[in-house]
Amino acid sequence: MPVTDPATAEPLCEVADAGPEEGAAALTAAAVAQRDWARTSARQRSDILMRAHRLLLAEVERLSLVMTLEMGKPLAEARGEVAYAAEFLRWFAEEAVRLDGGYLPAPTGGSRFLVARQPVGPSLLITPWNFPMAMGARKIGPALAAGCTCVVKPAEQTPLSMLALADVLRRAGVPAGVVNVVTASDPGAVVAPMIADGRARKLSFTGSTAVGKLLLEQCARTVLRTSMELGGNAPFLVFDDADLEAAVAGAMLAKMRNIGQACTAANRFMVQRGIAAEFAARLTERMAALPMGRGTEPGVVVGPLIDAAAVAKVTALVADARARGAVALTGGEPLAGPGNFYPATVLTGVPADARICHTEIFGPVAALSIFDTEDEAINRANDTPYGLVSYLYTENLRRGLRVSEALDSGMVGLNEGVVSDPAAPFGGVKESGLGREGGLVGIDEFLETKYIRVAL
Ligand code: NAD
Repeated sequence: MPVTDPATAEPLCEVADAGPEEGAAALTAAAVAQRDWARTSARQRSDILMRAHRLLLAEVERLSLVMTLEMGKPLAEARGEVAYAAEFLRWFAEEAVRLDGGYLPAPTGGSRFLVARQPVGPSLLITPWNFPMAMGARKIGPALAAGCTCVVKPAEQTPLSMLALADVLRRAGVPAGVVNVVTASDPGAVVAPMIADGRARKLSFTGSTAVGKLLLEQCARTVLRTSMELGGNAPFLVFDDADLEAAVAGAMLAKMRNIGQACTAANRFMVQRGIAAEFAARLTERMAALPMGRGTEPGVVVGPLIDAAAVAKVTALVADARARGAVALTGGEPLAGPGNFYPATVLTGVPADARICHTEIFGPVAALSIFDTEDEAINRANDTPYGLVSYLYTENLRRGLRVSEALDSGMVGLNEGVVSDPAAPFGGVKESGLGREGGLVGIDEFLETKYIRVAL
């Protein structure tokens, strides 16, 4: 199947297009390798992951160029993603040797309980195109550290970054059969049989909520353990008492990282009335000045969106908001081709019923509205089926903590525009997902707890 450069809409190369047979072969390889891999020492697994960490950093220029070509993000961001991916491998290399267990007396006496943690088994890992390497490393790192083999299915738009990561892992010493990458143009046809097969023991998925729900239904049939990192609709609240310059800088990060194509992207900006006009003016000045172009060109911040459908979606959302009274302070119309370019856009006066407030924009559009009271801000922020991340800016510590606790999301950025960190538990509530990746709990997703009762 072809891999396309979103900046030119030209094909870059072709990769293998797997069908159900290749999927089954990959699962067989993972199932066969599982026992030996689980028996390796934690230190061996840790050393391999640490070598892969170093290789990724040593090869950052080549890997980031591959990522920019197939995905479009500016080179500086691609370098950042390679480093972020490498950091997941280092973090889980460190976690591999720190698994704990338990030894407890039975309350009734006479027996002892040993509590051990074992790898869950062969794992299916499905990743999206927006962070084509980091989302893989965030799953492969803990899976390998825990002693699980895996079949990885990258997004059809961005197979190259995952193939490159698999090549690095192989050179770092991952044995044959432990990491198997399946690239496919028809993901459903390959994945559904692997879920139904019964040999996979875990599905870890990052992608849209719609596909996540479909996979949860499929997993119910074989009671497959799942982790789900799904879509978001992040509110970004700016209170009157915020440090305005910090809030604008945070807004730029929360909105423009990955050209707005992040599950953590600020989707709904809500600004308290007293500073709303000033915030909009400063944000507009910064957004309007962002250089747009191919991600490989020096200085570019706004690269292309992933495909023509993404441009059409953003265009329709902005048109709907404007039809309902929103005003574009900058941007607001797609660029003519070639390539899938949409400019950095600021909309003010976006009414709550506009589709853009209820849909993951996945593009460089900041939708602004005004609030008056703290309660109103919290209620509107929580008025969504999603709950991945929320952002708020205030210099009042009490308000900051009060609102952080009241926000219905798995993560909160309090005076911070980026929350992602391999050392922190990443994940959402409500329809944004199940489970956490990274942090001290990330490896738990790939471990089963076994209790052994021992007669004394
Ligand atoms: P997507 O759901 O379309 O695709 C994600 C993956 O699922 C791809 O590998 C795709 O091939 C595969 N897939 C699609 N249909 C499938 C099917 N029927 N059966 C099995 N696999 C299938 O999402 P996307 O457009 O690639 O990614 C964007 C979405 O991912 C956004 O909603 C974004 O919020 C979300 N995301 C979430 C996180 C998170 O950590 N919560 C991180 C990044 C992206």
